[in-house]
Amino acid sequence: MTVQRLSPEILGAMESAVGQNGIATNPAGMAKYLGDWAGDYRGGALAVLRPASVAEVQALMRLCNEFGLGVVPQGGNTGLVSGAIDSKGGLVVVSLERMNAIRQIDEENFTLQADAGCVLQAIKDACEARDCLFPLALGAQGSCQIGGNAATNAGGVNVLRYGMARDLILGLEVVLADGELWSGFSGLRKNNSGYDLKQLFIGSEGTLGIITGVEVKLFPKPAKTDTAYLGLASFEAAIRLFNRARSDCSDLISAFEIIGSECIELARLIDPAMRAPVSAPVQVLIELSSSAAVDLNGLMAGFLADAMDNGLVTDAVLAASTAQARSFWAIREGLVEGQAKRGYHVRTDLSVRISDIPALIEQARRFVANDHRGWIPLAYGHAGDGNIHFNVLPPPELAEHEARARGSEIVAGLYEITVGLGGSISAEHGIGRSRRKEFWVGLSPAHRRMVAALKNALDPKGLMNPGCLLPSTEGLP
Ligand SMILES: Cc1cc2nc3c(=O)[nH]c(=O)nc-3n(C[C@H](O)[C@H](O)[C@H](O)COP(=O)(O)OP(=O)(O)OC[C@H]3O[C@@H](n4cnc5c(N)ncnc54)[C@H](O)[C@@H]3O)c2cc1C
Repeated sequence: MTVQRLSPEILGAMESAVGQNGIATNPAGMAKYLGDWAGDYRGGALAVLRPASVAEVQALMRLCNEFGLGVVPQGGNTGLVSGAIDSKGGLVVVSLERMNAIRQIDEENFTLQADAGCVLQAIKDACEARDCLFPLALGAQGSCQIGGNAATNAGGVNVLRYGMARDLILGLEVVLADGELWSGFSGLRKNNSGYDLKQLFIGSEGTLGIITGVEVKLFPKPAKTDTAYLGLASFEAAIRLFNRARSDCSDLISAFEIIGSECIELARLIDPAMRAPVSAPVQVLIELSSSAAVDLNGLMAGFLADAMDNGLVTDAVLAASTAQARSFWAIREGLVEGQAKRGYHVRTDLSVRISDIPALIEQARRFVANDHRGWIPLAYGHAGDGNIHFNVLPPPELAEHEARARGSEIVAGLYEITVGLGGSISAEHGIGRSRRKEFWVGLSPAHRRMVAALKNALDPKGLMNPGCLLPSTEGLP
């Protein structure tokens, strides 16, 4: 049975655990925590709890365990699949925002330890000040938290070179569903002793415990970065270019983003003065970086001259300054924000083998053109990782409720195409509440049994983020 409201006894105990500043139960105090970034979801909660220390998280989890209260962990609330928002409302939200300290930077070991609520940008800035690099980079880095990045196994624009959050995390500190603390920091890069438990929590989207601390790997800070914005005739040409870039530019490529020209209009919704530096149906943003004294400029120029000579690239602009490189990235970031400004739209996060990207986009475009006339397809993404966001805007005149109904059909069609190509319906955003059904249906019986066994072992009462990622505890095999 869903709890309708918290008794004075529970509220009192929670207030003693986190102090008056750490609890909100009135609509105004909770509002900020109950709506998502894209404006797609509106949730409810019995209370929003904001612990300021690991001990406070433990105290809260002991209370929730004792009183059988479901818990939604929340980081920066920038997730795009409704993992940190629950619409039913019989749960408490635990926001990590007050736990935002960088605990330690060890330049000799190239490691950093931080509270889970530390904003990603703050970590990147602190590293930069010490001549180190933490390479996780995404459009939401000014708001998302390192704990949220771990819980969603975030990707972003530098995966190609440095991997996803899973590859960057050395250790986690987690408060389990019953309040017990597991501290898995070691500073070790090699630790081959049994099950690697941190990997269970990475990508678990708050369903196994609350991450309170994260230990990550650092890298040498690039001394030089070269960025170019390219025009190409087709997505096929873009994938051929990527393959050449991999061999011609060695392992110095740090980003390879693909943008269908139809996306540029969206970036202009954020800044009407924004102009793409090239005019071509497919555009590529490529970045090379190195911490050593390598002639990056020469490498990029030679590679581009070659690609233009053999007709792969039709137009190219090499950034002449950091400001110009930033203006290229502003187009990539602006188009994501522009979609949100446009209102409801179909949003996907698809992954296929890199060589299948042109087929995915071609089949998806054909499906929209044939079955959903008037809808506007957009294709862009981290092509170097096989990750395409194939999104679809409704015709402007369509009422939102009609668009939403049709949108579910479109999503189903796009997932069918992706699965048909052997791909995944979630490349980097996770499953959350919005992709839960498709995720669960797609698992084999053996996979489901293992997932259920892990969930039952770590969260036997089903209190951790119920409704997110998995069916309810009763629905598990
Ligand atoms: C403009 C924009 C661009 C984006 N670009 C990218 C991108 O390139 N790549 C990418 O991967 N994602 C991207 N995202 C999605 C999002 O930023 C990431 O998923 C991010 O990692 C979420 O972090 P958060 O702190 O905001 O987590 P939240 O949104 O608060 O939570 C996400 C999930 O993690 C759980 N969670 C959060 N904190 C904890 C914790 N401490 N312990 C346990 N569980 C927790 C929540 O319960 C929820 O299930 C983008 C989002 C936006 C708005």
